[in-house]
Amino acid sequence: MRIPGRSPIRLGPLLAVMLLSAGCAELPELPTAAPTHPPYEATPADYQAVRDLLDRRATAALQGDETGFLATVDPRVEKLLDQQRTIFDNLQQLPMTSLSYRVKDVQNDPDEVRNDGVLFAPKVVEVAQMEQAHRTPVSHPTDMTFVRHQDRWVVGRDRAAPVTRYSRPWFGGPVSVAVGRSVAVVIEKDGPTGADDLLERVKKARTVIKADLKAVQDAEKGKVPLLVDATNNGKPPGDTFDDEHGAAAVTYRVDAVGPGKTIWKPFATIVVKDNPVASNRLAIDDRTLRHELSHVYGPILVPTWVKEGLAEHLSRCEANICDEDEDREELLAHERALPDDDEWGEEGAIDYAISHAAVSWLIEEHGGLAKFIEFCNDFFSHRPQGSTDYNDGTDEALRASYGITEKELVAGAWDWFERLPSG
Ligand SMILES: [Zn+2]
Repeated sequence: MRIPGRSPIRLGPLLAVMLLSAGCAELPELPTAAPTHPPYEATPADYQAVRDLLDRRATAALQGDETGFLATVDPRVEKLLDQQRTIFDNLQQLPMTSLSYRVKDVQNDPDEVRNDGVLFAPKVVEVAQMEQAHRTPVSHPTDMTFVRHQDRWVVGRDRAAPVTRYSRPWFGGPVSVAVGRSVAVVIEKDGPTGADDLLERVKKARTVIKADLKAVQDAEKGKVPLLVDATNNGKPPGDTFDDEHGAAAVTYRVDAVGPGKTIWKPFATIVVKDNPVASNRLAIDDRTLRHELSHVYGPILVPTWVKEGLAEHLSRCEANICDEDEDREELLAHERALPDDDEWGEEGAIDYAISHAAVSWLIEEHGGLAKFIEFCNDFFSHRPQGSTDYNDGTDEALRASYGITEKELVAGAWDWFERLPSG
């Protein structure tokens, strides 16, 4: 999640406490009694055979050749064929401009597969690019096991790789897709709304938020390719969605494929990802869309309370209170301080509410959005030398831009809470 030379995009939980609902897409299960597979020492010819197989697979996917695509899969396993048919169908809907696989001369432990035969699991990386959504190709690790069937290698199992932070909305359940200028949206086929509807709402929210944030320095001025992923597929960064404080959605950059250790690694896309276990907030809630898009175009060199408070403010909560009215008594009794980056999100919604109050108090009572953006643009220069924590610059930045102290801001934030209607 780090942007080299800049602060991380810290996008922790948006709104806490959501019930687990939708499950992940179903993938083939392990057989109850797996046949034993003898250990196998792969030869260069085996690696080459798998490379050739995956070349055919990628070409078939790009050419819409379902028979060719499925010919790369073990024909004996119906569940595997079903899974692969869905992936093929998903790929057909997405605006893929390229798809390929890189097979490295490294062998993983093969997965058990349903059929006997020799198993082989070289390290395979999938490289793909989508029109409008990706500026350059992106790479994803895969978890494929190949099985030798009738003297040739075929895909025997294809699983989501156990890594964090990847975006393969095509890998999993069936999806619907809509594509606009510099944006692709992908949503569950039986999701709460259609892809075209979601695309229209994303475009609208993008226009509003870009206008709000046009004065932000360092923000992306040009076309930022966006992938709005409202599917249950893919895996967001870290533990974003893990516990009861799981975020409604998360926004993160995906690096371009290329040399790993450059100082500035260009990004291929910004992914706005729905929480698959939080009832598709992104798909149905414009407030969540605006919140996430404010992270795309908003200030970066500021503490998290500024980023998240501004995102909440610009999300345009109903009556300007988001859901914080429910917690009014709790908020009033809470320790009066701005949340730190270090412990951000540990208290879930409370951190967002305090940040929202602080930013809204500044904007509403001290010179509006334009002045607040100036404060954000200026913030960097007030971070104490040697400190990597932007919070250390809060007091100084407030004095310089607003002529107030951090203590006064905190008092103002709690005044703002006082004025919330009680729940
Ligand atoms: Zn956020």
